[in-house]
Amino acid sequence: MRIMISADMEGATGVTWTADVEPGTEQWQRFRKMFTGDVNACVEGLFAGGATDVLVNEAHSAQRNLLLEELDTRARMLTGRHKPLSMMQGVDSGMDGVVFLGYHAAAGLDGVLSHTYLPNQITGVWLDGVRASEGRLNSALAAEHGVPVLLVTGDDLTCADAAEYAPDANAVAVKECVSRYAAICTPPAVTAAMITEAAHLGMARAGCFAGSATGHRIEVEFDAAHLAAAAAVVPTVDQLQVRRVGFDAPSMTEAMKAFKVVTAIASGAVEGSYG
Ligand SMILES: [Zn+2]
Repeated sequence: MRIMISADMEGATGVTWTADVEPGTEQWQRFRKMFTGDVNACVEGLFAGGATDVLVNEAHSAQRNLLLEELDTRARMLTGRHKPLSMMQGVDSGMDGVVFLGYHAAAGLDGVLSHTYLPNQITGVWLDGVRASEGRLNSALAAEHGVPVLLVTGDDLTCADAAEYAPDANAVAVKECVSRYAAICTPPAVTAAMITEAAHLGMARAGCFAGSATGHRIEVEFDAAHLAAAAAVVPTVDQLQVRRVGFDAPSMTEAMKAFKVVTAIASGAVEGSYG
C-alpha cells in the first residue's frame, strides 16, 4: 500500500498569516515545526491503517519547508521545486491513495490564506466550468491515475470544499476561518490526534482503481490585464476577456502542465506595486 501526502502549508495547524508561510521569517521557522507535526500525525495514521510506503511531496512555495530531521523515519520526502507535476509529483507512480494535507480554499473565495497557485495574481480558476481550488484540480489529476483521495486537512472551508470534489474522503478542520488572515485555531497536540485517526480510517478506501484520461478545460482569471495577455502568448491558450484566459487539454495531466506554464509566464510579467 503506497500512499502519497501532498503537503501544503497554508492549511497547517496554527497558520493564519503571510509570514507564517514565508520562507526565511521567524514565524515560518516556528510553523515549520507545526507543519511537520501535522505530516507526522498523518504518517502515523497511514501506517496504522496498513500503508507500507509513504512519500511526502512538499507542495508549498519553493517546496523546502518540512524538517527532514524530524520526519517519521518510516516516511520518505520529496523536497525542492521544479517538478513536472508540482504539488502532485509522484501521483503517476502507482500510488494507492493520496492525502491533501494543509490545503486551503480557492482563489476568490473566503478561507484562511485562500488562493490558487499564485498568492494574489489569480482571482479565480475554473475546471470544466466549476471554480476550482488546488484540491479540486489535484483530485482530478489523482482520479485520472486511479488514485483515491483519502483525507484532506485545512481550515473548515477547505473541508467544505473537499466535501464537493472528494465526497468520500475524510476531512479534518485544524482551524475555523474567521477571515482570510484570522482563524480560531486548535492546538497541535489536539489536531495531531484528529489527523492520525482520520488517516487511519481513510486507509480503508486505499487501493488503486481504473483511472482514465479525458479532456478538460481550464480558465484562469488574473487581477490585471497584462497578465492575461502574457499568458495568452502560450500556444493553445486563448485570451477570452481582458483578464481571463482559457485552454483545452486532452487529459488532466496535460491540463496541469499547461496551467503550470500559464502561471509561470504570468508570474514573470508581474511588475512592482501595480502588479
Ligand atoms: Zn497551496
